[in-house]
Amino acid sequence: MKRLAILPLLLISTFFLPVEGAVADTNVARSATPSASYTSPWESVAAINDGIDPPRSNDTVNRRWGTWPNTGTQWAELTWPSAQTIRSADVYFFDDDGGVRVPASWKLQRWTGSAYADIPGTYPVAVNAYNTVTFAQVSTTRLRVVLQSGQASVGLLEVRAWAADSGGSTGWNPPSHLVTPLNEVWQHQESTYPNLYGFRNYGWDQIMANGGSINYCVRWDTSATVTAAQRDQIHATLARQFKKWMDVMVGHNAWPYGNVPVKVVGWAVRNRSQLQWSDNSVDIYVNDIRENAPQCAEACGRFFNQNGNYPNCPGGASHHYDMSLWLTAGFGGGAGGDWGQRLGSEYYMNNLNTDNMTILLHEIGHSFGLDDFYDWTPTGQCCFLMKAGSASSITEFDAWMFRDWWRHLKSRYGL
Ligand SMILES: [Zn+2]
Repeated sequence: MKRLAILPLLLISTFFLPVEGAVADTNVARSATPSASYTSPWESVAAINDGIDPPRSNDTVNRRWGTWPNTGTQWAELTWPSAQTIRSADVYFFDDDGGVRVPASWKLQRWTGSAYADIPGTYPVAVNAYNTVTFAQVSTTRLRVVLQSGQASVGLLEVRAWAADSGGSTGWNPPSHLVTPLNEVWQHQESTYPNLYGFRNYGWDQIMANGGSINYCVRWDTSATVTAAQRDQIHATLARQFKKWMDVMVGHNAWPYGNVPVKVVGWAVRNRSQLQWSDNSVDIYVNDIRENAPQCAEACGRFFNQNGNYPNCPGGASHHYDMSLWLTAGFGGGAGGDWGQRLGSEYYMNNLNTDNMTILLHEIGHSFGLDDFYDWTPTGQCCFLMKAGSASSITEFDAWMFRDWWRHLKSRYGL
């Protein structure tokens, strides 16, 4: 069940530069008072929240916080006059390749009111970049970065603490046992797909561009005929499966839609006579061949018009399609990406009334950015839809991975 085309698509989308840092909520570090276990007299702890993005870990231009010659456990801390609700942080290490190096390890702690408590998460150590940690949101007046020295003393150039813009039941509140595996998944995706944040054609982008709906083209990549009744069943099945993912989002974390209608606007075939209906409820495209399969007009396809304008689409923008349901005779498994989903036409027709059409659900997951898990498994998880072959329907973990995508993208839409 490979995702196929999403990889080349990620590569060809060069319009937007990757954004460093996971969440574009509010960086509340700027309003905090910094302090530290120790600061070398020529350095400044004020560096850590001065809002200056360092040019590199060996920053020779801006002020820095460093502990030379002290080693062992060192810390720097942000203190606010009132509690802040924080759900991720970015840390930029100071490393001059001499007396100050990246730490052997580090962690964040929050002040509970009476003690410091560790914030569970995965803590990367990279030079020349922000190191991002996401976690179940915490409310605290103090956030401490605890560094365990390695080859030398330690230091920081900048800390960003991102405040959730909504709290309570509408915010980011996964079950505690899923926090670690979710963080692992997100970091794996960030490291695997350098253009994760630059790519602008996820299913999320498509729905938001349409104001809460999705349009499809059916690529009928088979010589079989289709009756009007079969057509309507094909549409209904697609809508029913798509809805299973959308239902995961209802009422969650500022997701604005209670229902995301699926509308099939077009069918693509090799020969018009295969389609045994005469009504004009869908646009019909005959023998427009790409990838050796029929397609709806490129002028109407979001994949080919990622600015969301369709000046040459017959019938105008309302006849555009965001994704294709590509049904190929004799095709085993599936493929999914921002362009839609591909699966065997026989499999699809044989499962029109199946509650969970597993391959389609899996491939729709890819269309919203979810990754495969061929070579690793997140901590504590065994079986879920996106780990092909291990589950037949959307599990709680799949649902939270899906919501995690929304959490990280929603600021794009001003939410
Ligand atoms: Zn897959």
